[in-house]
Amino acid sequence: MQARKIIFYNQKGGVGKTTVAVNLGSALAAKGLKTLLVDFDAQVNLTHAVSGDSRKPNIYQVITGQVAAEEAVQPTIFKNLSLIPGSLDVAGLAIELVEEEKREVFLKETLKTLEDQFDYILVDCPPSLGLETVNALAWCDEVVIPLQCEYLAMEGLNLIMRTISNARKSFNPQIKVLGILFTMFSKRAKLNQEVVDDISEFFPELVFKTIIPRTTRLAEAPSHGLPINYYDKSSNGAKAFDSLAQEVIDRG
Ligand code: ATP
Ligand code: MG
Repeated sequence: MQARKIIFYNQKGGVGKTTVAVNLGSALAAKGLKTLLVDFDAQVNLTHAVSGDSRKPNIYQVITGQVAAEEAVQPTIFKNLSLIPGSLDVAGLAIELVEEEKREVFLKETLKTLEDQFDYILVDCPPSLGLETVNALAWCDEVVIPLQCEYLAMEGLNLIMRTISNARKSFNPQIKVLGILFTMFSKRAKLNQEVVDDISEFFPELVFKTIIPRTTRLAEAPSHGLPINYYDKSSNGAKAFDSLAQEVIDRG
């Protein structure tokens, strides 16, 4: 088994990166695929969203060489879904590693031994092009770009594409865009549909057919520590993530 290595990248905050990581991961796991979520954001949102335990060995300890990646993998209460929890300490990593020569390869080197143990490894990054994101870009094979259907979405997207292309040139020739994913879509907002139409016309191959709707259930689920397919299996949000998981599998 060789894991597919996927990250969720958008330098903008609050566009749904963590929500997509959690619920795509859980939807893949529900389809019987062994999935590992890695919380590489000092906000630790992903860890809480799957009822993870951030007091156990975490990604900070893995990156700094205090524990092996295997020791930091914890099962979740959800079938086929494992987690390396996040830590507030991740916020200090950039400064701690300032003297290191190849600062972008820490994630890649430390997660290597897990690649044959999972079908999917999904890494959630913070909303910036800081050290964590650069490490994630150097580690991954595929990038999912979560995009809110708002004003200036195209400009934001161009910037993201440029960053990915720079990452490809400088340290990760393998990296490919798995897809552009519209998140928090509201049927009632005319602008949302216009943005979807524009971007779909420009990147017809790249946009996922699945669009993630804006729903209260998706916003509530993390506060219960449950992915949407456990919080409300019959909700529109759960159906959307099931269909996204199928698209991700089919594009593999
Ligand atoms: P950050 O950049 O801070 O890491 P993010 O890109 O990971 O943020 P999320 O944390 O996933 O974004 O989402 C931001 C907020 O929007 C959260 O409160 C989340 O619950 C809510 N949210 C995300 N997706 C949806 C959705 N489809 N419907 C309703 N609420 C959503
Ligand atoms: Mg997040």
